[in-house]
Amino acid sequence: MQVYRRHDPTGAPLPLVLDSPHSGTSYPADFAHLPPRAVVRRAEDTHVETLFACAPDAGATLVEALFPRAYIDPNRHPSDMDPAVLEEPWPGPVARSRKTELGIGLVWRLAQGGVPMYARPLSVADVERRIALYYEPYHAAVAAALDERYRRFGAVWYLNCHSMPAVGDVMSDDPGRERAEFVLGDRDGTTCEPEFTAFVAATLSAMGYEVAINDPYKGVELVRKHGRPAERRHSLQIEINRRLYMDEVSLARTAGFNALQEDLVRLMEALADYVRARA
Ligand SMILES: [Zn+2]
Repeated sequence: MQVYRRHDPTGAPLPLVLDSPHSGTSYPADFAHLPPRAVVRRAEDTHVETLFACAPDAGATLVEALFPRAYIDPNRHPSDMDPAVLEEPWPGPVARSRKTELGIGLVWRLAQGGVPMYARPLSVADVERRIALYYEPYHAAVAAALDERYRRFGAVWYLNCHSMPAVGDVMSDDPGRERAEFVLGDRDGTTCEPEFTAFVAATLSAMGYEVAINDPYKGVELVRKHGRPAERRHSLQIEINRRLYMDEVSLARTAGFNALQEDLVRLMEALADYVRARA
């Protein structure tokens, strides 16, 4: 069972790390979800790892999760536990976030459309197994990639890569609203130097994209955990609007996929220059 895949730089490494925590499509055999697989799969950030496959050519390391985020979500704090998915009390700390209120905490209670994910609650042992076998190894892989670069360069820039539905749904804070083409999240300026956010926004804007910052997505656990700008650990979440590259129902790539992928090559080249100038 492979939990993640790590793609290292093809040439000289830069202190630049990307990850795609939500594009995994290897559904574990014990994931007994109630809705059809096609509905559960709409939680995925499908194809994000392919959109950023150019990253190693720019000197970056890319870590991609292979498991589905609807099974266990690596972009949540381990305490973001929904008691409603459990048949017994959780023995560890519980600090429910807004995500759990929306049904999309560490273990999702709801699938797309707000329908229940499970026919019956899970045991504590089920969830502990998911944390030990998937969540923790993925977090260790991201941390290792960041720490390796940080040790060598004394600084690291981390781009946490996602995609988002074109329109807010019932499991979001902006139901019915059309999203920008890209949303950058630095948790209101706390997870990276402001120049990093501004540089990515300006690079995408110059390509003609509409970019929003911290609206509606501010970034969640991975950028929070690894964003310590005072230590020169800079973390930024990037959300790509799925209408740019895929059909949200069939999950198939659309005609826009290749053009977007070419623009992301240019973004990675620009980021490599940015990092090289500061490392
Ligand atoms: Zn995501």
